[in-house]
Amino acid sequence: MKKETQAIHATNLLDETAGAIATPIFLSTTFTRDADGSYPKGHMYSRNSNPNRDALEKGLAILEGGAKAFAFGSGLAAVSAVFQCLKSGDHVLMPSVGYYASVKLAEEIMGPWGLHMSQVDMEDLDAIKAAIQPNTKLIWVETPANPLLGISDIQAISSLAHSQGIKVAVDNTMATPILQNPISLGADIVMHATTKYIGGHSDVLGGAIIVRDDDEWSARLKRVQILMGASQSPLDCYLLARGLKTLPLRMREHSASALALAQRLESHIAIEKVHYPGLPSHPQHALAKRQMPDGFSGMISIQIKGDEANARRVASNLNLFQQATSLGGVESLVEHRRSIEGPDSKTPSNLLRLSIGLEHVDDLWEDLSQGLTL
Ligand SMILES: *Cc1c(COP(=O)(O)O)cnc(C)c1O
Repeated sequence: MKKETQAIHATNLLDETAGAIATPIFLSTTFTRDADGSYPKGHMYSRNSNPNRDALEKGLAILEGGAKAFAFGSGLAAVSAVFQCLKSGDHVLMPSVGYYASVKLAEEIMGPWGLHMSQVDMEDLDAIKAAIQPNTKLIWVETPANPLLGISDIQAISSLAHSQGIKVAVDNTMATPILQNPISLGADIVMHATTKYIGGHSDVLGGAIIVRDDDEWSARLKRVQILMGASQSPLDCYLLARGLKTLPLRMREHSASALALAQRLESHIAIEKVHYPGLPSHPQHALAKRQMPDGFSGMISIQIKGDEANARRVASNLNLFQQATSLGGVESLVEHRRSIEGPDSKTPSNLLRLSIGLEHVDDLWEDLSQGLTL
């Protein structure tokens, strides 16, 4: 079955009460028990499991080609859950350029609990090889990566890692299961900030982990989901399952508009550099085409000629693009990334990150053209 069909049917729950086509939302925190002590419908308490969470997890596992999925209350709760599968003294290799808060979580929160972390250029296989330590248990890959949209080779990193008994996790937030399936490229674990494209409407926070195998990591993730308590609410799961249904269509449009805009931006006089994996000028364009054959997603980073003041002026000149953090919604956003990341950010100060929404591409171009002043 194709992804468009899976996305619509994978999360449906058959409603026995009224025969509803749309999945009902099960707000109940608790479920009835039979005289013999069993739970006939399979649910006991909503922190452990809930019909809406089950439906979302089933859909995510199918779309990513994994054995199981686990939904959490935010993307970072999902990242935390993976780190909780490691032990004190283990080492995780993180990207030197990637989602800022994932690195901060490993450093600030997991560090004092004994997790060792170092960062490496995830686009350089030799550097990764050299950075592996005897206690390395996990390589954390993000591709395309925040905010420069660099591409890491999931297949090559996975075979290197597996030859040394190391697991590979991929933050697949930018590409979504529609454009990239890390498990089919060899990864063991896939993470999503479902807050972004999967929700798609900037109205729900969520995170998910999908595992390739139903192994000891999968069992541990289930325990973390139950015991650490960052489980996701039924309403949020419902919204995300609904988002999944239109995800294939939305990703097609986000990708087409972003490619068209990236091409036009590249020759604009006020632009110093455009970062978009779909452009032949992108350093890993060939790899991007192999890894994401159906599209390059909707994120573009641009460096404006001049300094931070020029970049921030352009951002405030824009009308359709609202200035806000986050990405993946139907509305276009622009963000001066460095100023949100904090004092030790390595992001260039003249960089703006664009999340290309689902407005008509001509209107978006008109807005960018009027806003890009020297
Ligand atoms: C937003 C984001 C996260 C974190 O997700 P939250 O839902 O904000 O916790 C992690 N990785 C990437 C790539 C993201 O864009």
